[in-house]
Amino acid sequence: MNRLMVAELRSLNPYQNQDIKFTTKATITEIDAQQGWFYNACPRCYRRVKQSGTSWWCDTHGYLTTIPISWYKINGRIEDSTGGLNIVMLGKTVQSLVNKPCSMLTIQEGYTDPNLIPPLLDQLKGMSKIFLIQFRPRSAFIDATVIKTFDDDESQMLLPTPSIESSKDTIPPVASLDPETPPPETKKSLKKQLFVTESITEEIELSCQQHPSSTEIQTSSADPSKKRKESRSEEKGKKIKHG
Ligand SMILES: [Zn+2]
Repeated sequence: MNRLMVAELRSLNPYQNQDIKFTTKATITEIDAQQGWFYNACPRCYRRVKQSGTSWWCDTHGYLTTIPISWYKINGRIEDSTGGLNIVMLGKTVQSLVNKPCSMLTIQEGYTDPNLIPPLLDQLKGMSKIFLIQFRPRSAFIDATVIKTFDDDESQMLLPTPSIESSKDTIPPVASLDPETPPPETKKSLKKQLFVTESITEEIELSCQQHPSSTEIQTSSADPSKKRKESRSEEKGKKIKHG
């Protein structure tokens, strides 16, 4: 694992390092309420859906047959002694830190204003973790996306061990994490012999699917992939959300 200080992460060119995952030990210092803390997502792919009258549209899956789910997306900042870095945390990464699915906050507890951070999420501030980070493009931006967090070096270094399941929140039981989305079957059968590294890979794949790459596109289009490509190439390099 590539362990870097925050200042070293900041010095990287995100576009040239998209295939690499980094870890950094840091503390969450800010949550940006202006950019919202959740969005309405397609229950199948977790991408942002658009409202069209009383219906909801997913660029990949078309009109939803159910209501959208609420999905965490938090813009924040982490810092260590060398500096700070703006990061994005999505879905289950946030859920594992606050131990609550997003939909419980929105639907059951009534926090429906995306720009009003619920008190529960204030707990994120001050959390010190090891962050597994990858640079991920999102329309005009490239985000330092937190894929997973670890409590300490030990939980990350541990290689295959039968006690891994009981170790605290390194590998939370997936089924209880997200009642809306049952995990793929393979997870269950793999769980017992999971190495930490394998589970990281799975999370990465999962959060790839979650990534709302079409977030900023407002209108539906007959050919969304084309539109996305155009809009990205127009704006590519214009802005690096970083620092
Ligand atoms: Zn979808």
